[in-house]
Amino acid sequence: MKAMVLEKVSSVAERPLKLVDLPTPVAGRGQILVRVSACGVCHTELDEIEGRIPPSRFPMILGHEIVGRVESLGPGAGRFREGDRVGIAWINWACGKCLFCLKGQENLCETATWTGKDVYGGYAEYTVVAEDFAYPIPEGFTDLKAAPLLCAGVIGYRALRLSGMEDGKVLGLYGFGASAHIVIQVAKYEYPDGRVFVFTRPNQREHQDLARELGADWIGATGDTPPEKLNCAIDFTPVGEPVREALRNLQKGGRVVVNAIRKTTPIPELDYTEHLWYEKEVKSVANVTRRDAQEFLPLAAEIPIVAESQEFGLEEANEALVLLKEGKIRGAAVMSMTR
Ligand SMILES: [Zn+2]
Ligand SMILES: [Zn+2]
Repeated sequence: MKAMVLEKVSSVAERPLKLVDLPTPVAGRGQILVRVSACGVCHTELDEIEGRIPPSRFPMILGHEIVGRVESLGPGAGRFREGDRVGIAWINWACGKCLFCLKGQENLCETATWTGKDVYGGYAEYTVVAEDFAYPIPEGFTDLKAAPLLCAGVIGYRALRLSGMEDGKVLGLYGFGASAHIVIQVAKYEYPDGRVFVFTRPNQREHQDLARELGADWIGATGDTPPEKLNCAIDFTPVGEPVREALRNLQKGGRVVVNAIRKTTPIPELDYTEHLWYEKEVKSVANVTRRDAQEFLPLAAEIPIVAESQEFGLEEANEALVLLKEGKIRGAAVMSMTR
């Protein structure tokens, strides 16, 4: 099979992924072999390539927003049939026995493995996964439109739940890329009387235009003071400053959820009175559980979520990653294996 592999920690600008031919994997016990049709390109891949959260071994096939069809079943696998359309997300496996797993927090499992970091992911024509960690994709989404739902969508949904957003309240979104443009659609659907304020980099006109089209109630730049305090906020940016900004603009008792696996710059020093007093909270979101995906995918079909996507071929993975790093993707970047 064709695959784009990462051989070592590198700079994204060097276009480090190499196209190689590898043996097609074989589904083991309880696993399914999936013929990949689309794979989203996520910010986490930038963190993996640049070493902020490096793969656990090299070479590695990145990619954890996978949509494809079941090609064959391993011994003992029976949840799906050959030809079924399935999705694979960041969580590839969890032990099911540790204290976190037993409490439904398999996103915090001590021995979990992550797709495209510990095991081969979706920047390839085929991949294998335990059948319990694959999800049916609702009809109504094309493969390309479904792919960004598997990470940008699922983790955005988790972040929105953790934010404590309620109807009639104000939600702030810092950064408006793949995840935020899905979250705004969920928020508008679930909280019809809530308002969503969007903050982008000052020069991101495309992102601001998309936010306007999707119903943002106010749009500004990070650093701006919105017309009203935020009851809750989600930070999707790769840098530290917006966390402090969100805390500055937060209403008493509010919460800022940081939806990032790593930051490229530190969170600047906080002033206790200005940023934290009055019971303000900061909480990170780490990984996803199967339940997040099982709840979110049907909801996405019910809304229905319209994911903006920019399409690339497998061989164009490096170009997609460079554009993502520059903040130049409108919505989500997705690779089509048939392109
Ligand atoms: Zn991701
Ligand atoms: Zn566990």
